[in-house]
Amino acid sequence: APTHPDVDVRRVDAAPISAAELPPARLFIDGAFVESAGELVDIVDPSTEDVITAIPFACVDEVDRAVTAARAAAFDWGRTVPRERAEVLYRIADRVAENADLLVRLESANTGKPLSTSRDDVDGTIDTFRFMAGAVRAGTTLAAGDYAQDHLSVLLREPLGVVGVITPWNYPLLMAAWKLAPILAAGNTVVIKPSEQTPLTTLKFAELVGDLLPAGVLNVMPGTGPTVGERLAAHPDVDMIALTGSVGSGRAVARTAAETLKRVHLELGGKAPVVVFADADLPATAQALRVASFYNAGQECGAACRVLVESSVAREFTELLAEQVRDLVVGTPSADDVEVGPMVSRAHFDRVRAHLARAAEQGATAVTGGAVVEGTGYFVAPTVLADIPAGADCVREEIFGPVITVETFDDEAEAIARANDTPFGLSASVWTENARRSLDVAARVDAGTVWVNSHLVLANEVPWGGFKGSGYGRDLSIYALDDYSRTKHVMHNHGR
Ligand code: NAD
Repeated sequence: APTHPDVDVRRVDAAPISAAELPPARLFIDGAFVESAGELVDIVDPSTEDVITAIPFACVDEVDRAVTAARAAAFDWGRTVPRERAEVLYRIADRVAENADLLVRLESANTGKPLSTSRDDVDGTIDTFRFMAGAVRAGTTLAAGDYAQDHLSVLLREPLGVVGVITPWNYPLLMAAWKLAPILAAGNTVVIKPSEQTPLTTLKFAELVGDLLPAGVLNVMPGTGPTVGERLAAHPDVDMIALTGSVGSGRAVARTAAETLKRVHLELGGKAPVVVFADADLPATAQALRVASFYNAGQECGAACRVLVESSVAREFTELLAEQVRDLVVGTPSADDVEVGPMVSRAHFDRVRAHLARAAEQGATAVTGGAVVEGTGYFVAPTVLADIPAGADCVREEIFGPVITVETFDDEAEAIARANDTPFGLSASVWTENARRSLDVAARVDAGTVWVNSHLVLANEVPWGGFKGSGYGRDLSIYALDDYSRTKHVMHNHGR
């Protein structure tokens, strides 16, 4: 694909991360940072391409040591009462809040995302720990009663034991929090593997909160999917494996986990349809998509990336959208008003570039953008693609970059069929002023989350997770606590 000389990337140097602010280049096992025999791998700042530090990638026997530590800690931690665990989670939230500025800078250095986005991630992390601290106290005993003659049934929610966690690079700290908070609240111990590209805030988190947890309850193992991730999925002493990542990784983990029949929790990709009817408030919709499609540079599983607009307003809406997109501020994390940062890595930048080239080859028109940006850093021009031939890859595959596709439909039935014509089922949105239509379309779209006249808004009280190829299991809310617990029925014969 051609490069895009017209996008003005705002570059402002970030305050450097001092040696003391970096996390230890070690593994966190059994309450302590330990040396690794693994290879040291450079961690790169995607807006400057500078090496920030090097982090060891754990070996299989080191993963086994972490699992042993987590197993040894599981009994005592699992027997604490919810109030005790809630106290710990509140203290973790406070510790994160006290160190918010550092975590924000570290996350932005490692991912390239605007400081404001990293701030959202840190705020979200704090709220997830606080929510789970409260939620776990609201329901350990699920129900009790006499359901068979002279037999009292008691239903208990128990921890599973050791949970393995594998996180992606797009929200390194926040995705760790979405897993760790309910896993720990439910009384499990954990071994977490951050993404190869973005281990810094997960290691820093362990350094910041390590003393608040008994040794072995939290273990952090940076490393690769095929080595650390696969071992966690295969390990007979890991009771459950939770992954947020791509469909391919989800499939690999589920396949491996089948050997030991461990529980699997998968939050995978998305290709969210955005169904815009002619009766929608078009300028407001275009303005909302400026955020919902380009937040985190579109590296977002719920991004509003696949617009389906009613034909009668397609031209008008595409132009409104393009106006918003041309106006986006692209830049490094510390630049003023920056809205769109770089892609997280050279490899992902090359993937997005290849997607754009293929879209052009297959006949799509770039209304704006359509290419990567020349110069330092992995920046891609915010892009709107239109005139898309049926079956083109750009509307079927996750691009995971600052790219929206616009297609058209003629009536409601077609809109629903097209929205559902995807292997994914994570999220969707419907834009209309017609209440009958908004309810009906929401009911018929196969997605774990459907927004009406909104997109990408989340809260800890409500579940997040997919249907179909987007996986199974739910993050956030009381549903996540249930996912990381097992239900036991105890039945007493109290007759004579
Ligand atoms: P990825 O699948 O490449 O990597 C995710 C994690 O899985 C990494 O830690 C990686 O090391 C690990 N992994 C890779 N292969 C593995 C294997 N064989 N066994 C065990 N672990 C393995 O995904 P990514 O590129 O880091 O993240 C982008 C993807 O994540 C996108 O598809 C996106 O939609 C998805 N995602 C989903 C959600 C959600 O909530 N549903 C949130 C964020 C990202």
